[in-house]
Formats: sequence, structure tokens, C-alpha cells
Amino acid sequence: MKFSIGRNDTVFILTGAGISAESGLSTFRDSGGLWDRYRIEDVATPEAFQKNPELVWEFYSKRRKELKDVSPNRAHLSLANFQKKHPKTYLITQNVDNLHERAGSTNVIHMHGSLTRIRCTGCNYFEEHLEDIEGIPKCKECGNILRPDVVWFGEIPYFLNQIYELLSKTKLFIGIGTSGQVYPAAAFVSIAKSFKAKTVFINKERIYNEDIDLFIEGNASIEVEKFLSEIEVL
Ligand SMILES: [Zn+2]
Repeated sequence: MKFSIGRNDTVFILTGAGISAESGLSTFRDSGGLWDRYRIEDVATPEAFQKNPELVWEFYSKRRKELKDVSPNRAHLSLANFQKKHPKTYLITQNVDNLHERAGSTNVIHMHGSLTRIRCTGCNYFEEHLEDIEGIPKCKECGNILRPDVVWFGEIPYFLNQIYELLSKTKLFIGIGTSGQVYPAAAFVSIAKSFKAKTVFINKERIYNEDIDLFIEGNASIEVEKFLSEIEVL
């Protein structure tokens, strides 16, 4: 199946855990690594942070440290390359790592927040933070405790208005390394389809959804570059 887009068409690319896993980052779904030593309900919910902020900070400090041991893979690099040729390509990622940015991508929308940002629980203060954090950091502005700027289970993803607007405009939707099971992201492909976008998924496990025009079963680090190189630009 051949795909073509116009030079000024919007392209919406949703990325998930699979693309990061191929760089060696552990994700809670396939478990292993850090996720084997912590329970999700102890470290990735607002209730967990209220109960034991030290433990939550310990977990996120370790995850931030893991970023230093991994690099963007061919899928991240091909996406960044594609964006240079098609600036109206938006990367909506469910990942909290910074691999898209380190590959050189722009227009990265972190719907689940970012490991490299921390924010205040009392005011609007936030900062980019790559260094290690010991204990529980406090806000310079108001003195309240800071938290990782990630969306926990039970919280609402960021940028949903912008995401829905992009979905209504996109001509081509590509889901990469995401099983498309978790809402609201699970509905994105059907929303794009309802606005007449062509839809593609590239994932290791097959997904059954009648709104997907083309499903490519395989590794993102191999299939993404191949697929993007075959898109015809009108
Ligand atoms: Zn504050």
C-alpha cells in the first residue's frame, strides 16, 4: 500500500513504549529492570506520592539516571529526519524519556509529561532537571514540595486540546511502538480516521482495529525508516 501526502499536510505520529524499549529502556508493560523492583501503585499514582514522596522521588531519580545509559535508535533518528523534510509532522509521545529530542526532533508533545522536568505541587513553578536529586526537592518560589512532571495513573494526560485539534487536521496518522490499548490514546486512530486520515500502525504485536489501513508487524528500529522512505510527497 502506497501513501502520499501533500507538502503542507499535517502528519500525526503517536509513539509509545516500544520505540524506547528498542533503545534499552525498561517499560512497565514488558517489565524487567526498575519496574521489577517497584510496584506501579507505590510509585506512579498521586496517592503514592502523598503517602511516600521519598520512594516516588527515588524511583524517578533512578529512571532519570537510566536516560544517560541509552541513545536514540534508528526509529527516533528516522523520525527526526522525516520532520526536517516535513515540518508539519507532530510527534505525540506517551514516553517520558527524552530520546526524540536527543534524536533532533521538534514538535514533540509529551502527553504523559517528561522525566527531565520537575514541577511544584503548590504553584506554577517548573524546571528542566537532568541532574540527580537527593531526597525531596522544595520549590524556590513558594516552599512547597516539587514532584516529577509526569502524568501518573489516574491523572489526565497533557495537551489533549492540542492533540484533538491536530487529529482533526491530519492527513496521515502513524502509531509506532504502542499497542493502542490505553485510553485516551487508544481512540486517536479512530478519531483521525473519522476525519479521513490514512492510518498506519507499526508494532511488534498485532493490533486488531478496523480503523487501521495498514498494519506493519515488526521492530520500530527497522520498519519505521523503511515505511517513511516510501511515502510519496506530492
Ligand atoms: Zn512553588
